[in-house]
Amino acid sequence: MVKARNLGYPRVGAHRELKRAVEAYWKGESSVDALQATAKEIRKTNWQTQQNAGIDIIPSNDFSFYDHVLDTIALVGAVPARYQFKGGNVGLDTYFAMARGAQTQGADVTAMEMTKWFDTNYHYIVPEYSSSTAFAVSSTKIVDEYNEAKALGIQTVPTLVGPVTLLLLGKTHEAGFKPINLLAKLVPVYVQVLEQLKQAGAEWVQLDEPYLVMDGDDATRKAFTDAYKQIAAVAGLKVLVATYFDNLGDNLATAVSLPVAGLHIDCVRAPEQLDHVLAAFPADKILSVGVVDGRNIWKNNFDRSLALINKAIAKLGKERVFVAPSCSLLHTPVDLDNETKLDAELKQWLAFAKQKLSEVAILAKAANQGEDAVAAELDANRKAHAARSASPRIHKQDVKQRLAAVTDNMKKRMSSYGDRREKQQQTITLPLFPTTTIGSFPQTADVRKARADFKAGRISAADYEAFLEKETISCIRYQEEADIDVLVHGEFERNDMVEYFGEQLGGFTFTENGWVQSYGSRCVKPPVIFGDVYRENPMTIRWINFAQAQTKRIMKGMLTGPVTILQWSFVRDDQPRSETCYQIGLAIRDEVVDLEKAGIKIIQIDEAALREGLPLRRSNWKTYLDWAVDSFRLTASGVKDETQIHTHMCYSEFNDIIEAVANMDADVISIETSRSQMELLDAFVNFKYPNEIGPGVYDIHSPRVPTQEEMEQLLRKALEVLTPAQLWVNPDCGLKTRGWKEVKPALEGMVHAAKKLRQELANKAAA
Ligand code: GLN
Ligand code: ZN
Repeated sequence: MVKARNLGYPRVGAHRELKRAVEAYWKGESSVDALQATAKEIRKTNWQTQQNAGIDIIPSNDFSFYDHVLDTIALVGAVPARYQFKGGNVGLDTYFAMARGAQTQGADVTAMEMTKWFDTNYHYIVPEYSSSTAFAVSSTKIVDEYNEAKALGIQTVPTLVGPVTLLLLGKTHEAGFKPINLLAKLVPVYVQVLEQLKQAGAEWVQLDEPYLVMDGDDATRKAFTDAYKQIAAVAGLKVLVATYFDNLGDNLATAVSLPVAGLHIDCVRAPEQLDHVLAAFPADKILSVGVVDGRNIWKNNFDRSLALINKAIAKLGKERVFVAPSCSLLHTPVDLDNETKLDAELKQWLAFAKQKLSEVAILAKAANQGEDAVAAELDANRKAHAARSASPRIHKQDVKQRLAAVTDNMKKRMSSYGDRREKQQQTITLPLFPTTTIGSFPQTADVRKARADFKAGRISAADYEAFLEKETISCIRYQEEADIDVLVHGEFERNDMVEYFGEQLGGFTFTENGWVQSYGSRCVKPPVIFGDVYRENPMTIRWINFAQAQTKRIMKGMLTGPVTILQWSFVRDDQPRSETCYQIGLAIRDEVVDLEKAGIKIIQIDEAALREGLPLRRSNWKTYLDWAVDSFRLTASGVKDETQIHTHMCYSEFNDIIEAVANMDADVISIETSRSQMELLDAFVNFKYPNEIGPGVYDIHSPRVPTQEEMEQLLRKALEVLTPAQLWVNPDCGLKTRGWKEVKPALEGMVHAAKKLRQELANKAAA
């Protein structure tokens, strides 16, 4: 029989119970026992929810206090030396020290690095390796949680990150050393863990190897083959290798020939791979077909999924097919039933993690007993889809017509950059090395409280506006005193750079409890883009007018770009993402034009997330970059040559895509660079960046205040590959997470650094 299977369930709890418990423990407000009790309750609820939904194969060890990669680091004892781990088991305090750093009596250690998990918004802890890294089983978590479920009468499949992916996810500071060289030392530890699980009674184990969907070379393919040859030697325990987020591509032959009992593939992101996998699939394996989207919140299309499942069954037979979500449900909110404010029409289009479990179970039942056995469910599913695709709330003919009428000219500024620059210099008079900031100023406790009070009705709209005006004025006064050249209004009226626009655009909705783990205890609640996107009214004009009226200096208008709004939302799945992106582009374009009409001379369109939207496989980069850059250009090109367009991106690794970035043709771009000591600039050695650029001179992610000398030094480094006329001076990103105490000395140092460089240049010219 076809089995219904899950790969992982959200661990935060439907009401973010884990967040609260962990944070209380960190603050010393609750005991370790209280924390463990909450964790145990969440695990129990999750297992029982899956069992009640009709899932046959339920995972364990998908729970985590912080991150499952960190759990695996602890499991194999790969604790970096600075945590002074002495062997035995990794304790909870060491675990949290690795995640967050620790500053207690006698101890002051930094956290391990964190970065995004493939192309998701989930962050994992980056393993650190060196040639002397040693491994030993150093945690009982995976066995304990297996036993815990077993005691509840639930036979689970322990899941963990596989050895090859665990090494490839890591980094090293040792020149010439490759973490994958540690494989021979690491695999025996996995074998021991599997032995322990087998002893405890486990029948299956799931090893996640998403690196099988990444561009690989022969060496990595050999690493997979070698590792799983040894792992297969644990007789009596069945291993399922899980892949997700893309297709197996050139790793297909390797993946299907691993000596394991099962393989999971993502047929949501990459349905086209099913035929190829089936054609090559050996007779001794089970295929787990991921058909329910684990990355989104839309109801599954049963007919489409059944077509895929039936294709697999036709080739392999029912005994050799599992039905599953495409990936762990970690990336979806927990339970749609907790949404009380979404209207019924919208709600019937959606499925959160709990609802997705039922979908998997229904699909398995249909596969086993025929469609008649689930006739009512299939009927309801078809009706929901028909209703969604015909809904006038989704389809706005004028939006579609407007997009269809977009011409290439609308994606081009009127003149080339050189001509624009000349015209801009006539109205925008700035010194050399102009100073500016990225937009937001500290969102202090006062600012957050005022917003919360306003939302809860404790203060009136008028009082809230008055408060915001006061904050904005004092932020502007501060910037004048600090002698910053291009001012910003501070973004005090914005809760979040995407939500603020989403709330004002048509086609968006918001959930009450749609939380998804971003990192550790931090969760985000992405907006839902359900329909054609359009702008109802100007969104930022009121505040920019107010701000510009307070100062004679240039006030920069501040918008979020289409790619970033798309990337940080749950996006409709009934049309290509590119289409939705262009629609957002048109809506923001109108705002850009309105800002110009309001007399704003410099407009910044943030594309913080452009880089993270890059597909996993290089072969898909061009298509993405084409429409992403195009959408930005559509947004930015409705203005006169005299109006200066800025953009900002929060990521340092741009070297691979620098030409696409140049193609955005923003007059000025600011990029995060300070942490990597301006590594970005390497790209400019071979590629002459044509427009103006502000490589961030200080790291806003840290409370540390940089010295003027450090910033000067970074600017000098930038001047080795950029001309003085190209260089802007700004921080790495917005200042909203920082306090005024750090911001003031840092910005003052930044302005002085710019002035010092100006003076030096003037002296040189005079000499
Ligand atoms: N303008 C935004 C700000 O300053 C940009 C933030 C970002 O790039 N993440 O907050
Ligand atoms: Zn940024």
